[in-house]
Amino acid sequence: MSNAFELTILGTSSAAPTRNRQPTAQVLNVNDRLYLIDCGEATQIQLKRYKIKFSKIDHIFISHLHGDHYLGLLGLISSMHLEGRTSDLHIYGPHGLDEIINIQLKYSQTQLKYKLHFNEVNTEINKVVLSNDQITVSSIPLKHRIPCTGYLFLESQKQRKIRKDKLEEYQIPVNQINDIKDGADFTTESGEIIPNEELTLPPAAPRSLAYCSDTAYHEDVIPIIQGADILYHEATFTEDLSERAHETYHSTTIEAGRIAHKAKVKKLIIGHFSARYSDLGPLLEETKTVFENSYLAIEGETYNEETTNTSQPSSEVLQ
Ligand SMILES: [Zn+2]
Ligand SMILES: [Zn+2]
Repeated sequence: MSNAFELTILGTSSAAPTRNRQPTAQVLNVNDRLYLIDCGEATQIQLKRYKIKFSKIDHIFISHLHGDHYLGLLGLISSMHLEGRTSDLHIYGPHGLDEIINIQLKYSQTQLKYKLHFNEVNTEINKVVLSNDQITVSSIPLKHRIPCTGYLFLESQKQRKIRKDKLEEYQIPVNQINDIKDGADFTTESGEIIPNEELTLPPAAPRSLAYCSDTAYHEDVIPIIQGADILYHEATFTEDLSERAHETYHSTTIEAGRIAHKAKVKKLIIGHFSARYSDLGPLLEETKTVFENSYLAIEGETYNEETTNTSQPSSEVLQ
């Protein structure tokens, strides 16, 4: 069985697309189920380009209603319909998103073949918005020009690992294995109780991704994202443009690095780059002065807790 927890970047541009960079979108693969995070204009094209199946996406999380984060949503919804989707699709986002989508469906007289569920997210509080057998997703209030939320994806606690040598030693019946993985002790035929700690090993630690979409420097997120395996944080500008960043409620490289450092995350991915940068190298270099384990979001690349600095180019230059 797949044990993936990995993030593929689909779009890295802020505001308008450039010739080589698309507006924000990324997809988190958790054991072969896909969670789409933001849905900029080119999302469905990028999904096709990187051979990611629409049918594996059941949940879409939108951070805010600036066009570069959701204008691809109706296109994707329509294509799913045309491809014959029948399973429900769950969309999470700020107030107003359902109205925007429904009015477009209404005037195109589209009767979707599947059911859309809108879940309005309160952008002011940290609250669980989805919990299933794989993950728990909660909102991360951000500081932007309009209501905006990030999302924290936390893998569910896994079962303990059973020791094969103990299976044989105590002749444990197959129908008890699941209970033991859940923490039960085992009683032998002679009535001896074997404690669970002897039979099992601790499970792997649950993995996490914190997605901090458009935001000014905002320390309130730190306790929420503390210790995350992967932090995606926008870094629209280099530090020399910090005034521009503050005016537009965006972050600089140094600010993104500072949040990563203070929250003691394991890995930082920066994205949402201003179109003014054709070479992203300087953004990464600046970020690394504050937080060494930093990466550029590069479209089509996949990141997990094992990705290392040396496994990606340190710079991406537009042609
Ligand atoms: Zn944006
Ligand atoms: Zn925005």
